[in-house]
Amino acid sequence: MLLRIGNSAAKRFFSTIYAHSSGQGKSGVAVIRVSGPKSIDVLKRLTGLKKVPLPRTAILRKFSNPTTGCTIDKGLVLFFPAPKSFTGDDVVEFHIHGGKAVVAAMLSAIGQVQNCFPAEPGDFTRRAFLAGKMDLTEVEGLADLLSAETEAQRQQALLQMEGHLGQLYKKWAEQLARCMAHVEAFIDFSEDDNIEDGVLEAVDKQVKNLMKEIQGHLSDGRRGEILRSGVSVSIVGEPNVGKSSILNTLAQRPAAIVTSQAGTTRDVVQVSLDLGGYPVQLSDTAGLREANDEVEKEGIRRARVSAEKADLVLLVASAPEIYRDSLQNMGFDDSIKKYLRKCDLEINPKNCIIILNKNDLLENDPSDFTTDLNVVHTSCESREGMNQLLKVLQEKLSLLCGEPSKECPTITQARHRAHIENCSNYLQKFLLCMEENHDLVIAAEQLRQALRNLGLLTGKVSTEQLLDLVFSEFCIGK
Ligand code: GDP
Repeated sequence: MLLRIGNSAAKRFFSTIYAHSSGQGKSGVAVIRVSGPKSIDVLKRLTGLKKVPLPRTAILRKFSNPTTGCTIDKGLVLFFPAPKSFTGDDVVEFHIHGGKAVVAAMLSAIGQVQNCFPAEPGDFTRRAFLAGKMDLTEVEGLADLLSAETEAQRQQALLQMEGHLGQLYKKWAEQLARCMAHVEAFIDFSEDDNIEDGVLEAVDKQVKNLMKEIQGHLSDGRRGEILRSGVSVSIVGEPNVGKSSILNTLAQRPAAIVTSQAGTTRDVVQVSLDLGGYPVQLSDTAGLREANDEVEKEGIRRARVSAEKADLVLLVASAPEIYRDSLQNMGFDDSIKKYLRKCDLEINPKNCIIILNKNDLLENDPSDFTTDLNVVHTSCESREGMNQLLKVLQEKLSLLCGEPSKECPTITQARHRAHIENCSNYLQKFLLCMEENHDLVIAAEQLRQALRNLGLLTGKVSTEQLLDLVFSEFCIGK
């Protein structure tokens, strides 16, 4: 890999760093990690050992301050010799008791060994990246794994950390480099008649195939990104239909105030939930109606913004009112449409679940009414229909987020999307150059830019490096 690092970065890269690597606060066990050329020195000076222990084998030792000789703690020490360690350096791990003073005393003792410096945030992973142990998508996967709060987020992050996304982009980069090598060879050698026929046609076909694959990857409904950041679900509807009661039932706590007085909820009330492994940001909003009060007006404006921005809308209506309306006038679907008009809402039915609440007050049997709309009947009083609501919600969430363990890796960050869109735009320009018989040098430049964007994704592939790889196996002419 080509490395360009400044003096201070180089100093940090070749020095020895140490940090408390397990969680902060009191705990049974804390792990302190040391990485760099001085790791063995640290190990020997704190344990008194003359020889390093066998690689990756835990041994029980007393740890002492190298200056005063005072015992700090008793615990396990492990040695991971370079390059078979997380960072690629010599790494030592101390597993000590997780008390605040124990950790502080160990860190201070390690700091007394010459040329050992406290690590800055992300330093260990940066070393792993610079040592070629991980690409950028894997680094991002690791960061996501550390902050994953739900099962589906954990699965997605783990797959990314294991390199599933990076491998896909690497495969595309290699295909593209191959195409570029052929175009450049054609530019350099075609006049000597030293190159096979049909080279450009083959490249054109390969780029078209790659474009198709990239377009498919881009039109993923942003599943990976939604899963990573959490699904925003907005509860909207007229006042007093039971929106806050539904939020409280789903959150299993009284997060929003419930009263029989219309217009209680003014601001957006948000709760974070884990629904069947999917992360959800659930928002209760002000009831939609004509309001005169300035505060309520602002609440209603915020409710509309929340509904517009949401990945999924839960439209709540009062079941008795909807059924009364549909019996008296227009039928079920039209009375729902009328309700939407009354709320002045435009909602994509695909991203909406209609909740007919207060089912307990219904005189007719709701199964008498049929509809193609996504309708769930609930009662916050009797809890009737709540399991069905959870089931429908989870189905929607799984459509919105996908099932990371069962499908191809999806884009998980806006950064990925931007580079892939750039790559796709350059490929389109390349195909246009070919179609309109533009100068091949200009066409080749489009491929180079497309490739550069894939390289930026993983942070690992340089165009020159890939070309070397391809040219080494590429045979021009006979
Ligand atoms: P919001 O204004 O839409 O948020 O509605 P709330 O959740 O504050 O509820 C308004 C009133 O309706 C309260 O008195 C609730 O106790 C009552 N309520 C909510 N859900 C139900 C339900 O399913 N059945 C009945 N009978 N009353 C409900």
